[in-house]
Amino acid sequence: MKTALITGGAGGIGEAICRRLASDGYHIIINYAHSKDKAEAIASETGGEALCFDVSDEEQVSAAIASIGSIDLLINNAGISEIGLFTGISNLKARNILDINLRGTMNCARAVLPAMIRAKSGNIINISSMWGQCGASCEVDYSASKAGVIGFTKALAKEVAPSGIRVNCVSPGFIMTEMNSRFSADDLELIKQDIPLGIFGKPRHIADAVAFLASDKSEYITGQILAVNGGMVI
Ligand code: NAP
Repeated sequence: MKTALITGGAGGIGEAICRRLASDGYHIIINYAHSKDKAEAIASETGGEALCFDVSDEEQVSAAIASIGSIDLLINNAGISEIGLFTGISNLKARNILDINLRGTMNCARAVLPAMIRAKSGNIINISSMWGQCGASCEVDYSASKAGVIGFTKALAKEVAPSGIRVNCVSPGFIMTEMNSRFSADDLELIKQDIPLGIFGKPRHIADAVAFLASDKSEYITGQILAVNGGMVI
């Protein structure tokens, strides 16, 4: 049975990815930083395991990943966002966004890769954002972190392809999760008008894209950014 590690696996999108990969036959490791109860509930329902570590802390990441054994599939999904003017975001918040969204993604990849390279096989899927593709006013630090995830995906894909490892990215649009709970009903109506397909994304839409990139159906695809956004960014 193949093993998949999903960072932020107890969040809105993370949970959908965990459940989808478990139903596709993976043994899943559900990483969390704070959501212990939810991660353990998903683990007990799917036969997986919950594992606490902070993706932005290199030492925690390498100790946790060493404790797992072999990992066939890494999903770098953990992320935070913050809305506000670029000049109004505190240095601490700005640093956290980069540390979790970009450095966290790189930390986890760096920790799983030596074993994947030895095995000459592996698959890494990074979760970016449409704002990493086109930039969002009032989410400048977030957009920069997610653009970094796209650049990281492309560069790493080239470096590890000769070792039989694929690296791809899923770039979600507006997906209904806790991350978007701050928007008012009026805001949501305005946002919906910018989505050509006319509906908000659901976590399962991202899980479906991840499942495709995790499967052999995408065996000739690497270094790509798969946008799942209802046409909001084309
Ligand atoms: P969410 O429900 O808020 O989940 C975020 C997850 O990240 C949580 O499970 C959280 O775990 C985890 N996390 C945060 N900091 C962490 C850390 N230091 N170490 C480990 N885990 C950490 O948000 P979501 O909507 O599912 O977002 C998932 C991913 O999709 C994020 O990368 C986000 O940027 C991206 N995305 C979302 C949307 C959207 O519209 N929702 C759009 C584009 C991209 P704990 O609860 O345990 O702290």
